[in-house]
Amino acid sequence: MRANLLLILACLLLLPGNVLARQSASFQVSAPDRVAIGDPFSVWVRTEQSLSAVEISWLGEDFRLPLQQSRESRHGEIILGTQVGEDEPGTHWIGVRTLEGVSLVHKWKIRVESKDFPSQHLTLPEESVTLSHSQLKRYRKDKSAIRAALNTRSAKRFWSHPLRWPAQGDITSTYGLGRILNDKPRSPHTGIDLALPSGTPVRATEAGRVVLTGEFLFEGRAVFIDHGRGLISMYFHLASIGVKEGQLVKRGEVIGRSGGSGRSTGAHLHFGLSALDRLVNPLPLLRNQDAARAD
Ligand SMILES: [Zn+2]
Repeated sequence: MRANLLLILACLLLLPGNVLARQSASFQVSAPDRVAIGDPFSVWVRTEQSLSAVEISWLGEDFRLPLQQSRESRHGEIILGTQVGEDEPGTHWIGVRTLEGVSLVHKWKIRVESKDFPSQHLTLPEESVTLSHSQLKRYRKDKSAIRAALNTRSAKRFWSHPLRWPAQGDITSTYGLGRILNDKPRSPHTGIDLALPSGTPVRATEAGRVVLTGEFLFEGRAVFIDHGRGLISMYFHLASIGVKEGQLVKRGEVIGRSGGSGRSTGAHLHFGLSALDRLVNPLPLLRNQDAARAD
C-alpha cells in the first residue's frame, strides 16, 4: 500500500511540469525551464483567442501584457528575472491569466539555479562607511525616488534584442560581485561597471522615456530610462546629465557624460537593468561585446 503510494508520488513528480501549457492549442506560453539567479529571460505568450492582453504574475508582481495581432494569432513578450541577494534559488512559477471572459490560468515552472559569484574585500575608514543623520535622511529620500522610477509600468514596448552597450569599456565589476566592507557583508553588486575616462559619452541602451534624473548620495548623477513593460535601464556616477525627465530618447542617443559622482572610487559607469522590479544582470541582454567593438 505504502509502496504503491510512493510509486504514484514518484510518477507525479516525474511528470514534466510545463507540458500542459505547451500542448494547449489555444494558449501557449514559452519560457526557459531553468535559468541562473540574476539572469533575465524572455517569456512569450501566444493565443488564437481574441485577447488584447493577459496578466503575467512573477514573484508577487503582476503585469498586464498587451498582445499584438499577427495573422491568426496574438502574441506578446515580456522580460523577467530574479535579483541576486534578494530572490531565492529554487522552483518559481510564472502565472498567465486571461483578463477577458473565462479566466484561464496557465502556470509555467521555472528552476532558478544558484551561482557562485566572486567577492571583493574592501577596507575603508569607518567614518566613511557610516552615514550621518543628514546623509541617512537623504539616502531614504533617494531610495523612495528610485523605487518609484523602477516601479514604472508602461505597456508600450520600446526594446528589442539585443540591447546596445551604453559605452565601450572594460568591465571592472561584474553583476553579483559580493562586497565585504570592513569585514561586514554588504549587498552584492546589481549591475556592471565599465571603466571609462571621465567625459565619455554615455548612450541609451534602447529607446524609451526618461523617468528620473538627479544627483543621489550613492549613485551620483544618474539617469533612469523606461523602455516599457517593466524594463528600466540606469546609468550612475555621471559627470553630467544631458536629458530631462519625461523626454523620449532614441536608441544610442547620448544621455550624459561619464564621471565619478556619488560613492565612487574613480571614473566609471555603473549600468543596471531592472525587469519588473528585479535588478537583473544586463549582460545576457546586451549584444556580444566583441561584435559591438567591431562596429
Ligand atoms: Zn557598480
